[in-house]
Amino acid sequence: MKKIGTFFVVIAAVILIAFLAWDAVFNKSASKSFFDMDTVISVEVIGKNAEEVLSESENCINELDKLLSRHDADSEISSLNRNSGGTLSYKLVGYFQTLLDVSRRSGGAFDFTLGAVSDLWSFGYKPKVPDEAELKKTLAQSGYENISLSGNALTVSGGIIDFGAVGKGIALDEIRSILEKASVREAVISVGGSVLLIGNDSKVGIRNPLGDAGRSIATLTLSDVCVSTSGSYERKFEENGKAYHHIINPETGYPVENGLVSVTIVSESGILSDALSTACFVLGLEKGIALAEEYGCEAVFIDENKNITVTDGIQIEVTDSNYNLVSYEQ
Ligand code: ADP
Ligand code: MG
Repeated sequence: MKKIGTFFVVIAAVILIAFLAWDAVFNKSASKSFFDMDTVISVEVIGKNAEEVLSESENCINELDKLLSRHDADSEISSLNRNSGGTLSYKLVGYFQTLLDVSRRSGGAFDFTLGAVSDLWSFGYKPKVPDEAELKKTLAQSGYENISLSGNALTVSGGIIDFGAVGKGIALDEIRSILEKASVREAVISVGGSVLLIGNDSKVGIRNPLGDAGRSIATLTLSDVCVSTSGSYERKFEENGKAYHHIINPETGYPVENGLVSVTIVSESGILSDALSTACFVLGLEKGIALAEEYGCEAVFIDENKNITVTDGIQIEVTDSNYNLVSYEQ
C-alpha cells in the first residue's frame, strides 16, 4: 500500500516538473521600451522565443526607420524624393499601393506628398505659421496625383513623399510577421499612437484628447488587431493665441479644423489603421465613418464638445464622465 502511495507521489511530481518545464519554455515573458521613429516604442511578448523576438523587433524598427525616414539622406524614400522616383524595393511596392488606394478612396484627404508643406510648418522643431504665399505655392506643387506606380517603377512629378502618417502602423505589420514566425501567442506592441494586440482580449485606453494627456477617457476591448489614433493634441503649438496641429487639410495647407480632436481606427492591418486614422480625421465625422466602413474597419471619433461616436462593431467603455457616447445617425 505504502509503495503504491509513493508511486503516485512520484508520478505527480514528474507531471508537475514536466508542466513547470513546459511552462518555463513556452510561456517566457519579456518586455522592452526604447526610443525610435521619433517616438516611444514598447514591446511585451509571451512565448517560447520571447527574448529573441524583442531584439529582432528592435532591429526591424531600426531598419524601417532607415528605409522610410525622409530626414535620413540614405533612406530609400529620400532617394525617391531626390530622383523623382525610381525602382522600388519589394516591401515599398505594397506600401505604395495601399497609400495610393487610401489617397484615391479618401478623395485626396489622405495625401502622402505633403512633406514640403509640413516642413514649412516646422512641426517638431520650432513650429511656426508659414508665409501664406509660400504655403500656397508649395501646396500647388504637391499632391498624390503626382505619384504614379507601374509594377515596381515609381514616378514622382511633384511633392515630397512623407510616410509620417503610416510609419508606425507599418512597424506593427512588420513586427507581427516576426511574432508569427516565432509562434508568439500573446503580445502588446505599441509604437507611439499605434498598438498591436496579439492573443487574449486586452484593454486599450483612448488618450484624453482635450486635457490631461496621461489619462485615458475610454477603453476598448480587443484582440488580434492594430489600433491607431490621430489627434490634434500631437505636435501642437500656439501662435497669436491660436492653436495649430500637424494634420494638414490638403485643400488648404493649414491644419484641419472640423471639430474633431481624435480619431481611432481598428483594423487587422497596421498600415491601414494608421493611414485611415489620418484620412478619417481630415474627412470629418460623416465622410470619415463612411470611409472606415468601406474598408471594413471599426472607428471611434471624438469631437471638441467631448462627444464620442463609434461604429457598430466596437466594444467601448467610457471611463471619463465628461465625455458622452452619442449614437450616430446617418
Ligand atoms: P502621428 O504621427 O502622431 O501618429 P498621424 O498618424 O495622424 O499622427 O500622422 C500625422 C503625420 O502625417 C504628420 O506629422 C505628417 O507627417 C503627415 N500628414 C499630415 N497631414 C497629412 C495628410 N492629410 N495625409 C497624409 N499624411 C499627412
Ligand atoms: Mg496615422
